[in-house]
Amino acid sequence: MKIISTLMSTTLTLIVYSSLSLAQENLSIKTVKTTNPTKTHWGYTGHSSAEKWAELSPKNKICATGKNQSPINVITSIDADLEALAIAYTNPSSSVLNNGHTIQVNMQAGNTLNIDGISFELKQFHFHTPSENNIDGKSFPLEAHFVHLDKDNNIAVLALMFEEGEANANLAKIWEKMPLKANEKNSIILEDIASVLLPSQREYYRFNGSLTTPPCTEGVRWFVLKTPVSISKGQVAKFLKVMKHPNNRPIQATNARVIVK
Ligand SMILES: [Zn+2]
Repeated sequence: MKIISTLMSTTLTLIVYSSLSLAQENLSIKTVKTTNPTKTHWGYTGHSSAEKWAELSPKNKICATGKNQSPINVITSIDADLEALAIAYTNPSSSVLNNGHTIQVNMQAGNTLNIDGISFELKQFHFHTPSENNIDGKSFPLEAHFVHLDKDNNIAVLALMFEEGEANANLAKIWEKMPLKANEKNSIILEDIASVLLPSQREYYRFNGSLTTPPCTEGVRWFVLKTPVSISKGQVAKFLKVMKHPNNRPIQATNARVIVK
């Protein structure tokens, strides 16, 4: 009897653990799409810098142990017959948030990216300076990440590089409303902001990767646009001043991954 009850309680514990870990998983995916100020103290400098993320919380373990981490140096060697990205960013933005790690533009519902026969919805886009991914060893002054989720919370990120040149008029509309302090949010209703930021040429590099911020969740579909758009020196400087320091995770090992173009 005692054995049976021990067994039962073990089973129960296992069930509780597995639903707990499921809940945690959902929670960690939710942090991708929600705009709540972060409660963890990870960052890009000092004791909370990228090299230490895995030590900050057990939830971040994969930041250190993962084999498919982002960002990477995109080496452009393998040709593939890639399908065109079916981007339909038709609905406006809702707000622009300074979450202490980046400036993030939250989107209203209904903006989609269709790929692999799956419909992903654009939740938000945000920025890193300098770029997180490199292309053939080249870094860019700014990189935008358009973060999408499908109905099962699978993640797809479309990355856009900015190169120094003329001021970017579309970016200026966002920079104007950029909250200067962490955890501040401003309303920003821009009709077609996500689509006008993108170049008309939308060829891309594709690989598997992860979130570039804790908890570094893997299984992310990455699409890096080949064509950069323009940003002025002053626009980069303004972003860096608000962030106070670069907000790019260092390049991670490619390991066994294949990058296709
Ligand atoms: Zn990002």
